[in-house]
Amino acid sequence: MLSEKVPDSCPHCGNKLSSWQQELLKVDRAIVCKNCWYRILLDVLPEEKNEKQIKKNKSNNGEK
Ligand SMILES: [Zn+2]
Repeated sequence: MLSEKVPDSCPHCGNKLSSWQQELLKVDRAIVCKNCWYRILLDVLPEEKNEKQIKKNKSNNGEK
């Protein structure tokens, strides 16, 4: 099983997500909160790592 981080509540209004909503979020990587219509996006960790690596490379290039 993948240990993906799926939020159990809306980060915008705090409305609790039902288990099937969390399943949808896992599949679609995004779901709209039925309470406030905020679009909840599933964080993709590999992309975050890539961003950090790019930032590191940039700071290295910036050194003179
Ligand atoms: Zn919400």
